[in-house]
Amino acid sequence: LLEVNDLKKHFTLGGGLFGRSGKVLKAVDGLSFTVDRGETLSLVGESGCGKSTVAKALMRLYRPTAGQVVLGGTRIDEMSDGALRPLRRRIQMVFQDPFSSLNPRMRVRAILAEPIRNFGLARNRADLDTRLAALMERVGLPRDALGRYPHEFSGGQRQRIGIARALAAEPDLIICDEAVSALDVSVKAQIVNLLCDLQKDLNLALLFISHDLAIVEHMTHRVAVMYLGKIVEIGPRRDLFLAPKHPYTQALLSAVP
Ligand code: ATP
Ligand code: MG
Repeated sequence: LLEVNDLKKHFTLGGGLFGRSGKVLKAVDGLSFTVDRGETLSLVGESGCGKSTVAKALMRLYRPTAGQVVLGGTRIDEMSDGALRPLRRRIQMVFQDPFSSLNPRMRVRAILAEPIRNFGLARNRADLDTRLAALMERVGLPRDALGRYPHEFSGGQRQRIGIARALAAEPDLIICDEAVSALDVSVKAQIVNLLCDLQKDLNLALLFISHDLAIVEHMTHRVAVMYLGKIVEIGPRRDLFLAPKHPYTQALLSAVP
C-alpha cells in the first residue's frame, strides 16, 4: 500500500545573509519501510528522533529533501499539489491533541461533513446524514454529539471525533501521531481498542507513532525502531520484543517497566 524509500528531510537552521546557510539538521536521514493494507506498523523512538517529521512527509505537508513516497503504486513525493488532491483522501492523520486540531467554532457535524464534501463522497443530503450517523456509531459517540462543539466533550471523546474525521475521508491508511499519549490510562485503553477494532473491521492500515512500548506491544503487527533519523531495526512484533537485535532497541526495551 505504502512504500517509503530512502526518505530524507533536512532542515537548515539559522540561515545567514545572501543565502549562506546555517547548520543542517538531518531530522530524517534515509529511511525505508512499507505498510501493507490492513497492517499496523508502529514507529517508536525517543523524542526528537524524527517520527513526526516522517508523518508530515507522508501527509506531504512538505516535500522530502530526498527519497520516494509511493502510495498504491503512485509516487506522491514529487506530485504537484493539484495532482495530489484526490490522493490525499487515502492517507489521514489523527493528532496527539485533538483540541488543537478540531476547529472550536465548528459543530461536530460540520467538522465531519467537511472531508465528505471535499472529497465528493456523499451522493446527496440524505447520504451525508447516513454517513455522519454511521461515523458516530463507528467511534462510539451518541448521534446527538453531531450538534455539539468540540469543547463540550472530554479528551477521550474528542479523540473519537478526531478519529471519526479521519474515517470520514474513507482512507486506506491512518497515521496516529501520539494519538493516545495525552489520555489517562483507562481512556487510552479504550481508544487503542477502538483503533484496533477499526483496523480489523475496515482492513485499514495504521502507522502508529508512539513512545509507549506497552501499548505498541499490545496492538501492532510490526515495529520500526527509529534512532537519530534512521530506522535501526524493523520486524514483526514478537521478534522485536523477545529478541531485539540492535543495541538501541535493547536499551529502549530495558527501560520499560
Ligand atoms: P517527539 O517524540 O518529541 O514527538 P519526534 O520524533 O516526533 O519527537 P520530530 O518532531 O520529527 O521528532 O523532530 C525531529 C527533529 O527535527 C527535531 O530536532 C526538531 O527540532 C526538528 N524539526 C522538526 N520540524 C522542524 C522544522 N519545521 N524546522 C526545523 N527543525 C524541525
Ligand atoms: Mg512527534
